[in-house]
Amino acid sequence: MSESTGLAWVPLSGIGYDVHAFAEGRALVLGGVTIPFHKGLDGHSDADVLCHAIADAILGAIGEQDIGHHFPNTDASYRGISSIELLRRVGAILAKRGARLMNVDSTLIAEAPKVGPHVAAMRENISKALGITPDRVGVKATTNERMGFVGREEGIAAFAVASVIIPTPPTASGPSA
Ligand code: MG
Repeated sequence: MSESTGLAWVPLSGIGYDVHAFAEGRALVLGGVTIPFHKGLDGHSDADVLCHAIADAILGAIGEQDIGHHFPNTDASYRGISSIELLRRVGAILAKRGARLMNVDSTLIAEAPKVGPHVAAMRENISKALGITPDRVGVKATTNERMGFVGREEGIAAFAVASVIIPTPPTASGPSA
């Protein structure tokens, strides 16, 4: 691209963090996988904390505002929406900017349930939604060693980072772009 248009592919990264509290009578959805458990996460959408952290990481990488801005919980059309669908829409925002997603990596922090058996399916769901291969989607899980709100099984937290490349004119800010 740089030869014909004068644009350079500039690498950018973003970080995302989210937390949702457990609630009775809700399905537990993580990375688009419904995991059998006696409670789920509370939220306006399906409360998929992992997808939300990943969405914010991607939006942050391209200098966009967070998912609460793009998909406000005051909008009834997002009630109960699949967060995998929200990831698709974040992918569309990325595409509109001409950016390409290189990879995402993420960590779920949950005392229970065990999510390890579901990680492969989560990576598959997330990669499909974002149009990248599963090997570019990291999903890791850890406990909080019984400490704090996660340790008391009050909720689940997730961190994510995303790496993108975006076409940038040479005059724009950035190292020798
Ligand atoms: Mg959230």
